[in-house]
Amino acid sequence: MQQTIIGNELPPQSLYLQDKYAVFKRFLILFLLLSLVISIVSWPIYQQYQKGLQKQLLAQEEISVVSAIQMFQKEMYEQLHMLDLIVKSDALNDYLAQGSAEQKARLENIFKNISTSFHRFDQIRLLDNAGQEQIRVNLVDQQAVLIPQHELQNKAQRYYFTATQKMPPGQLYISAMDLNIEQGVLELPHKPTLRFSTAVHDAQGQPAGVLVINYLAKGMLVRFRELMTQRIDQQGMLLNNQGYWLSNHERDNEWGADLNRPDHNFSQFFPNVWPIIRAHQSGILETKTGVFRYESVDPLNFLDSQPAHFSMQHHPFISPESYDNTDWKLVIFLPNEVLYAHSFLHQPLGRTLLGLLVLMIACLAWLGAYLTVQKKLNHQQEQQTRAILERQANIDTLTGISNRRHFYAQGEAELERALQQDTPLAVLMLDADRFKKVNDTYGHAIGDLVLQELANTAITALRDTDVLGRIGGEEFAVLLPDTSFAQAQDIAERLRSDIAQCQVPISAHDKINFTVSIGLVMLGATDTELAHLLQKADLALYQAKQQGRNRVVSYSQAMSN
Ligand code: GH3
Ligand code: MG
Ligand code: MG
Repeated sequence: MQQTIIGNELPPQSLYLQDKYAVFKRFLILFLLLSLVISIVSWPIYQQYQKGLQKQLLAQEEISVVSAIQMFQKEMYEQLHMLDLIVKSDALNDYLAQGSAEQKARLENIFKNISTSFHRFDQIRLLDNAGQEQIRVNLVDQQAVLIPQHELQNKAQRYYFTATQKMPPGQLYISAMDLNIEQGVLELPHKPTLRFSTAVHDAQGQPAGVLVINYLAKGMLVRFRELMTQRIDQQGMLLNNQGYWLSNHERDNEWGADLNRPDHNFSQFFPNVWPIIRAHQSGILETKTGVFRYESVDPLNFLDSQPAHFSMQHHPFISPESYDNTDWKLVIFLPNEVLYAHSFLHQPLGRTLLGLLVLMIACLAWLGAYLTVQKKLNHQQEQQTRAILERQANIDTLTGISNRRHFYAQGEAELERALQQDTPLAVLMLDADRFKKVNDTYGHAIGDLVLQELANTAITALRDTDVLGRIGGEEFAVLLPDTSFAQAQDIAERLRSDIAQCQVPISAHDKINFTVSIGLVMLGATDTELAHLLQKADLALYQAKQQGRNRVVSYSQAMSN
């Protein structure tokens, strides 16, 4: 017979180590999952934000771009007009017509006055048809210096002379910007120079030579760099049409062609970017390292781009070559680092918020993990507790077998089954003999031990299908399903004799025996209620007591009369 054991384990009050581990595991999974979801959701938003930021930063640069281009155009416009002014002056035309010493001195004086007044012409020269300098005024230490006759040179081979001499009357020539070379040697400190020149003619309209002014571009470039560094720390540069830097935030990279450093070229630094910039008027180009904003400068197109600003009566007649010579690109490079540095997430507030977000996710994950594990444990605990209660309601605490209530419940079910299936059912009623005496002689505690021993012996002697219950103080009842009268008599007799052989220690040396009387009854054709069956078993038990105890007596109809 299966013994029912009353569980005494207490339900867990706090989390044990393995539960803490479960919480931690759940926390990790939740944290990673939450982080992943939030990252996936916020990534497009962040991308959008970075795009917006990039646009905003580039928009801030637009004012620099426009200012720089206007500045270049204004400089070109002014020098072209200076050239025009000299060409149209009486002093020049009188000298070309008559060539007197007096007229020459007057022209020299005008050259010197212009040089001293404007401080931006390195040289103002008049060359004859053979390329020989006729008049030359140099700017030396901010002073106009007329070069003596014997120091004047022949410039017949210089590109600006040959280019200008070929041009139709009235056309103006602007050279590429380069570093000035004096007597075959690069002048130091570097002198970025642009040459403005035009052919001059005598009164008969015959070629009379070439007028050249060397424009010092340093001021213009200094101003350009100022404009490029006014706002954020971007990299503003000016490139010629070969990709050489006329201006660069890294000054070392400038003038690659003039300094014989072909690798100091934009196309060497950014091979994929240069062809695109070269081929387009303007645009924005995103690369892995940052964003390029580029714009063609076209400094000679001032009338096209800003007709209101430059109100010139007539458009200057400029040689096509001059446009190529000044085909410059303004490029602003916004490195990713600059972009990131301006990003919200790199500001202290942004970082703090990001940290808080991570902390919040961690807290949420922890809370989620803790609550779910706690809920699971509570559920388990509840189930355990319910089982224990339920058991306590059914079990007799002294002996661990079914109590009276539970025995009746089980008994009703067994009776129902036997009646339905028409199977035999035997009922035994047991009562400890002279139990009062045991209590009186050895004490109540020993009496309890006897009752426990009695129950244990019955559990061992009975089958798994039998139902045993304590239905009174020292009274027990047994249902033997599927048992014939003969089998029931055997079982009852064995039970009686097993119990009679039991010994309960009353001290270190002494033991006592005890016996039971048993009444037996079989389920009869007229029996429909358990109480009736038990009453009959009780009558048989009474007879057993009467006949001297420690025996089994079967019920007979006569006992009920
Ligand atoms: P009989 O042979 O006629 O049955 O005599 P008896 O002394 O066994 O019968 P009686 O009904 O006079 O006494 C039963 C005693 O059982 C009385 C009661 O104190 C004792 N008893 C009932 N329940 C318990 C219990 O749980 N523990 C102990 N130790 N004694 C109990
Ligand atoms: Mg009794
Ligand atoms: Mg008794």
